[in-house]
Amino acid sequence: MLYSAEQWNSFLDKNLASMESLWPKKNGVVKIFYKISDPGVNTTAANLAIAAWEAKTCIKFSKMTESDERAEYMKIWLDKSCYADVGHRKGKPTKVSLANCPERGPTHEIGHALGMKHEQARSDRDDNIIVYMANIKPGMENNYDKFPTINFEVPYDYYSLMQYHDRSFGIDDKRVMLAKDVRFQILMGDGDKITHWNAKLMNTMYKCTVGWLKACKQKSEPCKNGGYTQKDCSCACPLGTSGDKCENLVMSYRDALIKQFSPYTSVISTSGAVVVSPGYPDKAPST
Ligand SMILES: [Zn+2]
Repeated sequence: MLYSAEQWNSFLDKNLASMESLWPKKNGVVKIFYKISDPGVNTTAANLAIAAWEAKTCIKFSKMTESDERAEYMKIWLDKSCYADVGHRKGKPTKVSLANCPERGPTHEIGHALGMKHEQARSDRDDNIIVYMANIKPGMENNYDKFPTINFEVPYDYYSLMQYHDRSFGIDDKRVMLAKDVRFQILMGDGDKITHWNAKLMNTMYKCTVGWLKACKQKSEPCKNGGYTQKDCSCACPLGTSGDKCENLVMSYRDALIKQFSPYTSVISTSGAVVVSPGYPDKAPST
């Protein structure tokens, strides 16, 4: 189903979680000021994460000068662990702590700072995963809360930068999440880059896509199969599609991911049975 700009706006208005957490636009531009407030921060990793978001969205980041005393900014520092506030906060800094982060940490945490929740917090998560609440460490259940997010027709992405590992906060490392289709289990929590769908969601929330369509003099979206017109006016296409306009759907995004990471998993279409390696979906021991 396609929605008009007004309908999207009304969805955003209803989705308080998103509306409140979006950084404001000034003169049509979202510019987020940031300060690295701890000399121990890995500035290379932080800058790479900022550059990754800047490259894929219309959001701009600007380093604050020493004398800048604004109240609303992104504060990159080192607390006790790797975490971030979700989105813009009125009258306060949005804190991004990069202490003991895994490799994807800075990009993931800045995703939060821009307003993204975890993939498994999406309103449609129960269509995609089964969450075993009994396997979560007591007191940690809130990490698996579900929110009434509006997802703008961006599909659930097991390989999302924002998807937890299937055993995160599990008692004795027990599995907490099961993919409804077992083939996708192995993708959860390994995404360390901004995926097509992560970028599309962000660009839709901040209306980057609307601005780019206009700048590229397009009346309607020319990119097909989940693709979208990006800032250089070419189509950003999801995996599984080909052609300048993503017009050829070779296979689904999920199937394309599986092919990339686990080429020997396949569905026998005659019986519908799924063929998997022994012990799957546990990861093969590293060598
Ligand atoms: Zn997170």
